[in-house]
Amino acid sequence: MKDQRAFILILDMLAGHWAGKTTVPATGLPPPNVWGYAQAGKLPAFQDCIENGTFVKAWNKGNCNTPYGQKYLASGTYETRSVPGVDPYCLMVQGAEKETILSACKRKYPAGKVAAFGSDAWMQTGWWKATDCTMGWGSYYSDFLTSQQCFKWMLENPEWKMVLLYLPQYDLTGNCPVMGKDTAYTKDKHHSLLQLDRFLWMVKTFLQEKNWWNETGLFIGSDHGCHYGCDAAVKAGRKKGVPEKELSNYCSNHEPPYDCLVWDFEKNKPSKQRSDCCRRTTFIAGGGAWPARMRGKIVEQGEIIDFSPTIADFMKIKLPADGRSLL
Ligand SMILES: [Zn+2]
Ligand SMILES: [Zn+2]
Repeated sequence: MKDQRAFILILDMLAGHWAGKTTVPATGLPPPNVWGYAQAGKLPAFQDCIENGTFVKAWNKGNCNTPYGQKYLASGTYETRSVPGVDPYCLMVQGAEKETILSACKRKYPAGKVAAFGSDAWMQTGWWKATDCTMGWGSYYSDFLTSQQCFKWMLENPEWKMVLLYLPQYDLTGNCPVMGKDTAYTKDKHHSLLQLDRFLWMVKTFLQEKNWWNETGLFIGSDHGCHYGCDAAVKAGRKKGVPEKELSNYCSNHEPPYDCLVWDFEKNKPSKQRSDCCRRTTFIAGGGAWPARMRGKIVEQGEIIDFSPTIADFMKIKLPADGRSLL
């Protein structure tokens, strides 16, 4: 147990699950989300994690903006609010002094190194600031180059205890006609999700090749999803002048209202079915050291604030939090 490590992979804006029976006319698939795409056989690496780990249909029940989502993930609590009148992206979110899973890990294992790699906005105290090494680049810096820096540091610090890798590029596809004919490859959520699957495979094979896999818990999380195929997305699309026939392909970022209804494209009005799509986040726990009794399990209802408490429990770390451990 003392040799247990944790690799935390945060994929910005990645919806983990979606409202049932919704499909995108252009692909015949559900709107891009981990569970739906894995069920359709499109995500072999995620599928592998789901079959050998615990998949949580997780919700962000707080504010669905990134500064909050990242904080809920890091701290395991919704106890945070912005200063009135101040843009949360200026990081004026209260509670920055709160313990996170990274700081708690260092306190418990002073000899084990803790590092974080990602966008500089979130590599901050109270978010993903790590004690031994924190590398942050501008928003939407290359996922590939960020991963390479992370792997390089791990090779140089084989005694690493906890590593956070945050990849933002999927969020770059946030405000786009998703399946439009002239949509550039990198601005397409469908293709970007397939690409994330390859990044996940790269993480797993890296850990395996270095013989770290069997002692590592792999925790995959996200801060929020996006509006897509719901009344909020259709309203946003109309406001931006998206042609009526393309609205079924429209996704509109993760602005309020966070609660929304599935759009009925045949009747061209909201259906009665709840979507709440930007609250649907990814949460998968797995890796070589994940307990056998938890493998292949699906948790039907979880929350974003259960993420860090689960890592803490796995690592035998005390973390004061409001969320509950899956274990
Ligand atoms: Zn985000
Ligand atoms: Zn929505």
